[in-house]
Amino acid sequence: MVMPSFRFAKTSFPSAAAELREQVRQFVTEQEACGSFVCGPGSWTRFDADMSAKIGAQGWIGMTWPKRYGGHERSALERYVVTEELLAAGVPLRAHYSADRQIGPLILQFGNEEQRRRLLPLIAAGKCACAIGLSEPDSGSDLAAMRTRATRVDGGWRVEGRKMWIGHAHKAQILNLFLRTSSTEESRHSGISRFLIDMSWPGITVRPIINLHGDHDYNEVVFDDLFVPDNMVVGEIGQAWSQLGSDLAYERSAPDRWLGAFETLKCMIDELARRPGPRQEEACGRLVAHLWTFREMSLSIAGMLERGQLPNVEAAVVKDLGTAFDQEIPNVARSLFSESMRADLDDDNLFEAVLDYDLLYAPSLSIKGGTREMLRNAIARGLGLR
Ligand SMILES: Cc1cc2nc3c(=O)[nH]c(=O)nc-3n(C[C@H](O)[C@H](O)[C@H](O)COP(=O)(O)OP(=O)(O)OC[C@H]3O[C@@H](n4cnc5c(N)ncnc54)[C@H](O)[C@@H]3O)c2cc1C
Repeated sequence: MVMPSFRFAKTSFPSAAAELREQVRQFVTEQEACGSFVCGPGSWTRFDADMSAKIGAQGWIGMTWPKRYGGHERSALERYVVTEELLAAGVPLRAHYSADRQIGPLILQFGNEEQRRRLLPLIAAGKCACAIGLSEPDSGSDLAAMRTRATRVDGGWRVEGRKMWIGHAHKAQILNLFLRTSSTEESRHSGISRFLIDMSWPGITVRPIINLHGDHDYNEVVFDDLFVPDNMVVGEIGQAWSQLGSDLAYERSAPDRWLGAFETLKCMIDELARRPGPRQEEACGRLVAHLWTFREMSLSIAGMLERGQLPNVEAAVVKDLGTAFDQEIPNVARSLFSESMRADLDDDNLFEAVLDYDLLYAPSLSIKGGTREMLRNAIARGLGLR
């Protein structure tokens, strides 16, 4: 009997990576020095259109796409270097992150030529923020249960319904919207289609969802008689289900999946230098060893993507374990460093601020982008275990 296994091969950076890493670090230092961002609680998740335009001008968005669409024809490993450095430095990336890693690759693979020529250069320039409209009040994991519907009309489609938890729909220019285009009786999975929606069109209402931290990141989006022209369909009508998956490997394995609580970990290590303690040292050593392992796994997936492989199962493993890691860090910090917290009661205590942020955000990490149980289902299926 052949035992199912994962494919994680040791991957090294190409020679161009070291120079690129230095360029990114230089950029980060300059931007921090001129005050265009401050590394702090959840800073990489902030939506900052100016910063995305600056990153686009450096050639660091759409890095692997063809030059004729505004891309830079660089390798997946070079893209990895840029992502890792910007995330670790806490640079605000949200205004281009979904467009760069999900919507751009989708348009490149399944979009029509007009969509490619019009949207990809804007995305690569960091000037077109995109949101993703999948989930509904009664359909999250089970996408086939979605009810928001597009009905065929002359020249396009009419949309009615609502979506939930749509990240930054209130700031995005383009929404990648999943809609039911034929009934579940005809087909449960093959009746879903993907559309690109211009958020300025009439018939769209965006309502804020305020999170535990008091931030407005997510929204309910309601569609009432929204008209979408035919040229905004992505790929074939009814085939969105089969398109899902082609872009998952990068999305699920990128360093944001295990660098989410990096600031808290850095604060723990700084604190250790000031007030050493054996239990704290042991805990930090273990967390850093795990961090390095995730980095090797994530890098290995970038290497497989570079070689044209589709490591979706391995990427699901990185997301599942990586988000559990990001949830563990603030809990370790809270249980082992509370005395340090009490010793420093000044108002602008960075450790306390990032820990507070990470504790409140941690529960969402293993829900968004696919829940823990759904990832484990996918891993089991990929290994042929179910
Ligand atoms: C912070 C955050 C950001 C988000 N951003 C977006 C966004 O930008 N765009 C968007 O479209 N959506 C977004 N979502 C929604 C997210 O994708 C869904 O919440 C997620 O897919 C789970 O769906 P649900 O909430 O309906 O839970 P359900 O699908 O109802 O799941 C409830 C529980 O049941 C478990 N479960 C369900 N089915 C199975 C099964 N078959 N086997 C085993 N267990 C199962 C789940 O794992 C979960 O624990 C976001 C969510 C969060 C929390």
